Amino acid sequence: MTMSPRRFHVATEDEIASGVVTDVYFRHSEAAIRARGADKRVVGEMRAASLPSGWPWAVLAGVEELAHLLEGLPVNVWMPPEGTVFLPGDPVFTVEGDYLAFGRFETSFLGLICQASGIATRAARCRIAAEDRVLLSFGARRMHPAIAPMIERACYIGGCDGVSTILAADVIGIPPSGTMPHALVLMLGNTVEAAWAFHEVVEPDARRIVLIDTLNDEKFETLRVAEALGEILHGVRFDTPGSRRGNLRQIMAEVRWELDLRGFERVKLYASGGLDEDTIPNLNPVCDGYGVGTSLASAPTLNLSFDLVEIEGQPMAKRGKESGAKFVAHCPACGERKIIYWRSAPGRCHCGTEREILNRPLIENGRIVADLPSATEIRSYVLAQLHGRTLTG
Ligand SMILES: [Zn+2]
Repeated sequence: MTMSPRRFHVATEDEIASGVVTDVYFRHSEAAIRARGADKRVVGEMRAASLPSGWPWAVLAGVEELAHLLEGLPVNVWMPPEGTVFLPGDPVFTVEGDYLAFGRFETSFLGLICQASGIATRAARCRIAAEDRVLLSFGARRMHPAIAPMIERACYIGGCDGVSTILAADVIGIPPSGTMPHALVLMLGNTVEAAWAFHEVVEPDARRIVLIDTLNDEKFETLRVAEALGEILHGVRFDTPGSRRGNLRQIMAEVRWELDLRGFERVKLYASGGLDEDTIPNLNPVCDGYGVGTSLASAPTLNLSFDLVEIEGQPMAKRGKESGAKFVAHCPACGERKIIYWRSAPGRCHCGTEREILNRPLIENGRIVADLPSATEIRSYVLAQLHGRTLTG
């Protein structure tokens, strides 16, 4: 097959949907199965034996894209709803069909879930670290622009309050969030002038957050901007470079003090630059919001694997994998959970409550049968599950 010339090194939507983004061994395998007339009805499932960096739990993302990838194929698919918090060992994708109907899509369906779930999980971890402070996704610039909407959608459903790129915000259905770049301050030559110019052109309801580390000391720039803009100013952002950073928390605490002393208690302090779930808690006492970039966009991809677990209705799996398809049964009352054989009844929890199956029908014979909730609905579902969760458990 010849590929058409392209300006950007990305697969088109049609190429992804046609299954051409596949490891070549699947094509060879298909040809061999066809040559022997050996196609069979199978069930396969996706699980993670462990999670990266010792993460104890992860957030399932990429489900909507996966539904569109497999839509129209003669297969049945079950998945927990997008945004479900899952544990190592949990089956998060189950497909039933003739092997030749879906085998070549393995590379793509793993890729959709593994990367988006890694990013959503990192966002959820930053959400926990930031507590109720503002958390914005600023990481599109660290990754190929073709996948910026996927990255920022995963950041948002994982718990970010906003995303910075225009296209991603449009895909999600929210207004984009941002402050101002250093370039604007440099172009206008002074921070207060840049702040006024910004104020005059942005939408009336956009927060006026002024970058105050471009030309001069953070404290004196913040006070100048606060005095010049008055009520208009929502907050200031510290993006202080590493070479000047010293102790960012101390710098921000000093600025907070000076602002409060002059009656600017309502001016918020935002930080960006090299933040993640480990560095955010140290800034929480002095910071009202965070722009997190690299650590979100470059979150580790999950190491989910896909294995056949039933062939022609009989449990059968490779060495090291339990045969038979499995679902997660959980107790809505006490949270107890149990992995069960998919054909067995979920039964009752020790607390007496009927367990519920997390894995729901997503596709029936090629038709999407589950509701595909909006990103905002998925985000609410994630946030509800984060109550009581920590970075370590
Ligand atoms: Zn229970």
